[in-house]
Amino acid sequence: MSNMVAIVGRPNVGKSTFFNRLVGTRDAIVDEFSGVTRDRHYGKTEWIGKEFSIIDTGGYVTGSDDVFEDEIRKQVQLAVEEADVIMFVVDTMTGITDMDNDVANLLRKQDRPVFVVANKADTNERKMDASEFYAMGLGEPYPISAMNGSGTGDLLDEVVAKFPKPQSDPDEEAEELPRISVVGRPNAGKSSFINALTGSDRNIVTPVSGTTRDSIDTHYKAYGFDFTLVDTAGLRKKSKVHDDLEFYSVMRSIRSIESSDVCILMIDAEEGFHSQDLNIFSLIAKNNKAVVILVNKWDLIEKDHQTAKKFEKLIRSRINPFDDVEIIFTSVLTKQRIHKSLDAAIRAYENRKRRIKTSPLNDYFQTVIAKQPPPALKGKYIKIKYVTQLPTKFPSFAFFANLPQYVKEPYKRFLENKLRDQFDFTGTPVRIFMRKK
Ligand code: GDP
Ligand code: GDP
Repeated sequence: MSNMVAIVGRPNVGKSTFFNRLVGTRDAIVDEFSGVTRDRHYGKTEWIGKEFSIIDTGGYVTGSDDVFEDEIRKQVQLAVEEADVIMFVVDTMTGITDMDNDVANLLRKQDRPVFVVANKADTNERKMDASEFYAMGLGEPYPISAMNGSGTGDLLDEVVAKFPKPQSDPDEEAEELPRISVVGRPNAGKSSFINALTGSDRNIVTPVSGTTRDSIDTHYKAYGFDFTLVDTAGLRKKSKVHDDLEFYSVMRSIRSIESSDVCILMIDAEEGFHSQDLNIFSLIAKNNKAVVILVNKWDLIEKDHQTAKKFEKLIRSRINPFDDVEIIFTSVLTKQRIHKSLDAAIRAYENRKRRIKTSPLNDYFQTVIAKQPPPALKGKYIKIKYVTQLPTKFPSFAFFANLPQYVKEPYKRFLENKLRDQFDFTGTPVRIFMRKK
C-alpha cells in the first residue's frame, strides 16, 4: 500500500489546482487506459522515486452553505484518521480567515504530520506574506504557487521525508497468496459477506498482523481456497459516525484496493448501479487491480428469467469499455453463490498474472493486424511490426510500430478487444502501449 497524502482546507484556496498540478499528466495517462469516469479527486503520483496517493478532500464537500463548515470539519477529521501526511492549503491573497483557524485548531490536536501550504504565492511579495501563517501554530508555512508550480518541489521533498511506511506494494511482497478485498458502498453487504465466510468456523481463518495501523488481514483456508482477505477488521468494526459520507467510503476503498490483488465489488441489487459504484470501479481499474462484481441482496428482487440478464447488461454499459468482468448475483442472506464468487475472484487473480509468450502473441496478432491494419493518417501508412508483453504486475503489452504516435485510441481498444477474444483476461485491466520501432 502506498502512502496517502490528504489535501485539506477551506474552499477557493486552490486545493484542486494544486491537486491537478501534482497528479495532472500522469493521471490523464492512467485514465486514457482505464477508460472509465475520471475521479478528479484521487490520483497517484511520485516524487524522487517515492510513489504516493493523493486525495483532495475538498472535492467531496457537498451540501449547502449552512452545512458547509460542519462538512469541512468532518473531512478534516477523516483525513487525519486515514492519511499519513496532511497538506493544509491556505491562501496568501486573503491571509488567515476564521475558517482557516477552525481547521488549524483541529489539526493542532492530533499528531499526524501537517504541512501548511501557503498558496497563490506567485510573487516575491506574496511569498513574504506567507510567514503570516506561522501564527496558526502548525510550523513553518511553505509558500507555493499551484498556478505556476513554484515552491512545490521544496515542499514535496519534505512531504515524502515524512512517510512512515517503507514503499510496499502487495505485488512486490514475497507472499504468494492472492490478496482479496471486498469493497462497495455502505450497506451493500460487505461485512455480511465476510462474516458468512469467516464467522461460521473459526478454524478456517487466522488473523495476520496488519502492516498498517488498523488493518488486520485474515488468512482464509477452506473448501479448496487459500487466500488473504484484506482489511477485514476495518469492515467489521464500522465507524458509525462516518458511514454516511462518500468521502469515508472512498478513503476506505482506496486503502483496500491499493493493498489487494483482486477486489470484490459489491452492489446492492435493490439500489441499482450508482455513480458511486462506478467511482469505486474506476478506482479499481485505475489501480490496475482485478475485479469481480457481485450484485448482492438478489433474494430481495422480484424477478423473471430476464431480470439478471437486463441487470448485467446495464452494468456492462456503465463500466464500458472495461466490461470484460464477471458479474455474479448473490445473496449473502441465503448464502447463494458465495463460493462461486470466490472462484471468480481467484480466476480474475490468475488472469491478472497471465503471461503470454511472444511467439503465440505475434502469430495471433499478425493475422489480426493484416486483416484490419491501423488506419493511415495524413497519408502515412502505419506498420505494426511486433508485440510483446511487458514484465509488469498486471497485463500490459507493447506494440512496436513505425509511427506509434499515429495509432489512436479506438485502434488500441480494438487491439485490446482482440487480445481479450483470444486469451483469457476476464476481470483484469489490460494496458496497451505503442512504441517506436
Ligand atoms: P479549491 O476550492 O480549494 O479547490 O480551489 P481551486 O483550485 O478551485 O482554486 C480557486 C481559485 O484560485 C481559482 O480561480 C484558481 O485559478 C485560483 N488559484 C489556484 N491556485 C492559484 C495560484 O497559485 N495563484 C493564483 N494567483 N491563483 C490560484
Ligand atoms: P456493509 O455496510 O456493506 O458492510 O453491509 P452489511 O453487511 O452491514 O449489510 C447491510 C444490511 O444488508 C444488513 O442489514 C444485512 O443484514 C443486509 N444484507 C446483507 N446482505 C444481504 C442479502 O444478500 N440479502 C438481504 N436480504 N439482506 C442482506
